[in-house]
Amino acid sequence: MTLLLPALQSPTGPAASREAVRFGALSLTYGELAAASTALAARIADAGRVAVWATPTPETVIAVVAALRAGVPAVPLNPRTGEAELAHILADSEPTAVLAGPDDALPPALEKLRRVTVDARAAASEAPEGYAPGEAAAEAPALIVYTSGTTGPPKGAVLPRRAIAASLDALEDAWGWTGDDVLVHALPLFHVHGLILGVLGPLRRGGSLRHLGKFSAEGVARELGSGGTMLFGVPTMYHRLAEVLDAQAGDGERDRRAGAPERDALADALAGARLLVSGSAALPVHDHERIAAATGRRVIERYGMTETLMNTGIRADGVPRPGTVGPPLTGVELRLVEEDGTVLSGPEAIGEIQVRGPNLFTGYLNRPDATAAAHSADGWFRTGDVGTVDEDGYVTIVGRKATDLIKSGGYKIGAGEIENVLLGHPGVREAAVTGEEDPDLGEQVVAWVVAADPDSPPRAEELADHVAGQLAPHKRPRTVHFLDALPRNDLGKIMKRSLHAG
Ligand code: ATP
Ligand code: MG
Repeated sequence: MTLLLPALQSPTGPAASREAVRFGALSLTYGELAAASTALAARIADAGRVAVWATPTPETVIAVVAALRAGVPAVPLNPRTGEAELAHILADSEPTAVLAGPDDALPPALEKLRRVTVDARAAASEAPEGYAPGEAAAEAPALIVYTSGTTGPPKGAVLPRRAIAASLDALEDAWGWTGDDVLVHALPLFHVHGLILGVLGPLRRGGSLRHLGKFSAEGVARELGSGGTMLFGVPTMYHRLAEVLDAQAGDGERDRRAGAPERDALADALAGARLLVSGSAALPVHDHERIAAATGRRVIERYGMTETLMNTGIRADGVPRPGTVGPPLTGVELRLVEEDGTVLSGPEAIGEIQVRGPNLFTGYLNRPDATAAAHSADGWFRTGDVGTVDEDGYVTIVGRKATDLIKSGGYKIGAGEIENVLLGHPGVREAAVTGEEDPDLGEQVVAWVVAADPDSPPRAEELADHVAGQLAPHKRPRTVHFLDALPRNDLGKIMKRSLHAG
């Protein structure tokens, strides 16, 4: 196959001086990134497998690009991972070296590994000699990315170059993504969203990336307002933007947090962007609507997984529909399957989403059992997500089979639909819905709510009535718990398994 990152293969002339990545004051051109990654590739060419201490820095970009160019599988590590999870990932993936920045203090678990220091500031002066990296074969493991651990301990998904290239090219097709695009993001660099889409996406196109380091509405406004064309974010980020946009003049508490000039600058910047994309979890319809009302722009959603990279997405020239994740991307086949294995069809059908295509991983590292269990007898990948497909092929995610599909009194109820209605209530800031065991119903609908104003939360009855007023009676929550915050991981995903436990 062609190279994964052709723009980094000996760039010359204007191509070499184009900005590739910018993190705050530090930026690297294609020429600098090519030189630095080639030099680093030479240093790690003999390593069997490397870990990357994936801070949101240009060092992480150099490290991952170098590993890809050297054909050495890389395991991006979350620098905020707890000791136990880090130990699990290291024992599972067995890297021989860790690539880290000059100032990174590494935890004891990494001390046994050879440390290879990557320094972006020295990038320009590095002129590699006599080493020409050649990418590994299309099916060889390129990256081993751990799943988010939302439903259980993270599993290492082995991603070949073929899958990365296929998924990025499908997004190019869907979004008209070109080398002229400037992507703005603030996502962590150890998952598919931030690293594969957010870093390798722009680099594969020969475009550029500006990383905010830490997410802020001001940072988004500044970068989109000064040349950024696309924004990638997770729902918690769009929620924050919606809160800033929503601040009404005279709206006391909110208005102090977001002054009117800040709000206007953000609205203008978002209105001027070519594409606002959300993924990793469902974006509540309420936030979709608030952003659209303030900017005239629709956020578009795409749906992917660590194991499959991207499955579906609203096209740039397509019709956005809040609450849906769009049709399957080019090359991806998608079907809905009933628990007994029956393949379903028609807009009424609700079933597990299964996919097939060149975007899929090769399997879980060291887990042939889990890999086999994740595939149907006829070779489709079982996503564990439940969804519907409408007449136009648009997919709607009802939720995860394990945590979001509530079976109550003979009905199948999707948690997301109820969450969206709860979030539309002015007294609700955050909401999650689960099914809790019930002797009569099998499961009963339970809501977990963070009140907009903790000092005067809405009454539980009022929220339950609000749901029953908009949805069928069996979707009315039987119990409403009030919490100070919902448990979330570093992508902002709600960890429903700790809700159950707590
Ligand atoms: P684990 O597999 O370890 O339990 P995880 O499934 O959260 O964790 P990821 O691979 O990062 O790990 O996330 C993939 C999941 O994220 C999908 O299966 C789906 O449930 C959810 N998801 C991704 N994008 C969307 C979206 N646009 N709307 C709704 N859900 C989404
Ligand atoms: Mg998963």
